[in-house]
Order: sequence, then C-alpha cells, then structure tokens
Amino acid sequence: MPVSISATELANYASRYPCLRCAWIKMHVKDLPYQSFPAIFSTIDSFTKNSIKAYFDTHKKLPDWLSDLGEIHSFIKPPGWRKFFRIDDNTEVSVRGEADAIFKLNDGAYHIADYKTSKYNPERTYALDSYEVQLNAYAWIAELAGFSPVNKLSLIFMEPDNSRESVENVNSFSSQGLNLGFVARIVPVKRHPENLIPPLLEKVRAVYEMKTPPAPRGRCRECRNLDNLIVRIATGID
Ligand code: SF4
Repeated sequence: MPVSISATELANYASRYPCLRCAWIKMHVKDLPYQSFPAIFSTIDSFTKNSIKAYFDTHKKLPDWLSDLGEIHSFIKPPGWRKFFRIDDNTEVSVRGEADAIFKLNDGAYHIADYKTSKYNPERTYALDSYEVQLNAYAWIAELAGFSPVNKLSLIFMEPDNSRESVENVNSFSSQGLNLGFVARIVPVKRHPENLIPPLLEKVRAVYEMKTPPAPRGRCRECRNLDNLIVRIATGID
C-alpha cells in the first residue's frame, strides 16, 4: 500500500537517535492535540521569499548578501506539494514537499534553498541533520520533476538583528512602530540524496507496517506520563 510523507516529516527519521515511536504516532494519529506553530514564522518566511524575489525582478540579480548562492539565471516558482512529489519504486513511499526557493544557475543546474528564521547554531546538530534530509528530499524529488541536475543545496538563516547597535538605531523606529532587521547567513548543505533518502524510506515503510507503536525512548518521561494518563482514564481513579 502506498505511504505518503512530507520532506519535513521524513527529516524526523534522520537524527542520530530517531524516536520511531514518535514517527509511528505522527504517521498513524493525524489529529494530534496541542499541535500549534506560531503563525509569525510563516509570515516572516513569506516576507523573506517575496522580498528576495521582488529584488531579483527589479535588479535582475540577487542582493549582495546572497551572492554566494552563485550566478543566478532565473527564479523558478517552486511547485506546490501536490505536484512536487516522487514515489520510491522499492518501498512505494511517496515523498512530497514544497521548497522555499529554486534557483536556475547560469550553468543550467539548479540550486535549492530553504529559509530559516532563526540564528544559525552549528552545535544544534539534531536540527541541522533534519534540515539536511529535508533539502536532500527536495533534490531527490526535483531531479524527477524536471529540475535536473540539482548541484547545490543551501540553508539561508535569516537571523533577527537584536544587537545593541540595531536596537538603538534611529532606523529601528518608524512612524507606525518598530523595524526589526534580519542578517542573512548562508550555510551550504551536502548534496547526497542518492545515499541519504532510500534508507530513510525503508524506515518509513517499516514504521508504517507496525501495528502498535514501538517502545518509547528510555529517557523520555513524556511517554511514560502519557501511558500512565491513559491507564488512569481507562480504569478511573481509585
Ligand atoms: S515523548 Fe519521547 S519517547 Fe515518546 S514519542 Fe516523543 S520522543 Fe518518543
């Protein structure tokens, strides 16, 4: 039976110590309670995407602080997830997603980038491993979706500039409120979808086939608390 997973969800299988119980719950229980994502991040992401695109349309080049992305020939409008997917022949797992940015380079290759509204921290290896999977999943899909070859992958961190200099700068104040600036930092990501993605899809298939969730991770109290809660709800308090 076909299984569908987003590139972002696939990233959960990538960390050095993935929790397959978490993966099972996310796959089999679609309407999880207490799931919320602050809308402000989507707003900032779309502001970033639209501002950079508008700059390119006007100036026919990227802002200087993005020049390390390479010689950009054109912006490609990233297809939505309904059109941007690929089914793996071996596992019949379908991976879908929507890249933040696809650039066509002057040499005819493609560069896929993802914007992250946060400070870059090289010690957050868990998050960086996840982002590496997400971008490689996009490359894996893109190469069968007409964007081939994908030669470069990048994370573009938009770091909020709350430095003292910025806070005290007169330009931080407008007639209607405050202006918060962002400093861009480009972090190249290793491109290796052929090696990275297929083993993860095998894990996805294995988790999908499990009838019951695998054991929780030893150190995780939340799952033990949840199990206790379920028992108390089922049996009542004596
Ligand atoms: S709470 Fe911990 S053990 Fe439970 S599913 Fe999440 S990560 Fe896994």
